[in-house]
Amino acid sequence: MAGPTADPVHQGVLALPIYLDYAATTPVDPQVAASLSQYLNQGGVFGNPASTTHSFGLTAARAVESARAQVAALLGADPREIIWTSGATEANNLALFGVMRANLRRGRHLITGHTEHKAVLDVCRRLEREGCTVTWLDPEPDGLIPPERVAAALRPDTVLVSLMHVNNETGVIHDLAAIGEITRARGVLLHVDAAQSAGKLPIDLQVLPVDLLSLSAHKLYGPKGVGALYVRQYPVRVRLEPLLYGGGQERGLRAGTLPTHQIVALGEACRIAGETMADEQARIRNQRDRLWQAWSALEDVVLNGHPERRVAGILNVSFTGLPAEALLAALPDLAVATGSACTSASQESSHVLRAMGCDEFRARGAVRFSLGRYTTDAEVDYTARAVAAAVNRLRELSPLWALRRHGLDHRAVDWTALP
Ligand SMILES: *Cc1c(COP(=O)(O)O)cnc(C)c1O
Repeated sequence: MAGPTADPVHQGVLALPIYLDYAATTPVDPQVAASLSQYLNQGGVFGNPASTTHSFGLTAARAVESARAQVAALLGADPREIIWTSGATEANNLALFGVMRANLRRGRHLITGHTEHKAVLDVCRRLEREGCTVTWLDPEPDGLIPPERVAAALRPDTVLVSLMHVNNETGVIHDLAAIGEITRARGVLLHVDAAQSAGKLPIDLQVLPVDLLSLSAHKLYGPKGVGALYVRQYPVRVRLEPLLYGGGQERGLRAGTLPTHQIVALGEACRIAGETMADEQARIRNQRDRLWQAWSALEDVVLNGHPERRVAGILNVSFTGLPAEALLAALPDLAVATGSACTSASQESSHVLRAMGCDEFRARGAVRFSLGRYTTDAEVDYTARAVAAAVNRLRELSPLWALRRHGLDHRAVDWTALP
């Protein structure tokens, strides 16, 4: 190693810790923050968009509608098909409860996957308690649910299929065109949780046979606490039962005073995403591949998820033989996730990796690196080297690794007894 003068941290090229958890949340883009701040103060556009009797309200309402057009443009939708929510969690709740409750006479069956986000899984569990029947589809070991599996699960009383576009843990991409073709042919609605794909993959709802789609601002460089649900109006209108009642905003589908500053920010985030998506994703893919190249040479390192059908920014890797917590503890300068940030508060290993058939050994060794708009090449180089060094060092010390070296079955080890 060269002396401190060649060290990127000392040269000021690299600031620690390094944020590699963009799938959990993203920082707000400075342009987005600048526009948001124009909609708060007395001197700014603070009016209630529902106050149509004066210019304060009318100016705010115009800003809301222009943001609606920006979100719609990113998705190839009509602005009238966009409903503001507090995020993807609320959008998923509104889509699932809303559709099932509005279609009780048609049927009570819905289909989803074991690899969905909790914001879909927990709604489905609640719907089961309300008298709905849910078919839970298993993914292939690569994390993807094949369209034929959706077709085989359809019943005469199926109302809705809910499957995510991009998985938040592995980054794998479902074939929405093929799945939507199947549901459309059977008159079944398709809801898609696109929190991880909006602004990262092209989505054209003029072409895609998707009926409802959820997104969240804070996954695409907007603020937390705002999102949207796309609800198809053309050629057929999707009927929804609202979750919130009150002032009748959003055509009665989502009552509550609209947060103009949040909505404007989401619109601006969508505009920027539409303009930068192609270049940004190409750069991030390149950086992700450099990480994988550095680690795939190590022994017993596995990529979780389909090797090609994967979004650029997510790399989920199992360093077999090393519990992810131990690896992260050895890498205090890296902000990354084990499994999923949403479940890491609990001791359970990732429900997504378990559904994919990963054994406990591999699931507990999984680390999710997620890259984004501000990830630099210097950060990628540092991470590539730091992780490889930590893996080698910890394996030298690990009794599990010694067992494995001697050909003993590591699966006999009681994981719960490990520190
Ligand atoms: C982040 C995320 C959500 C939740 O979105 P919020 O806006 O934080 O409620 C839902 N689904 C997926 C796939 C996500 O990644």
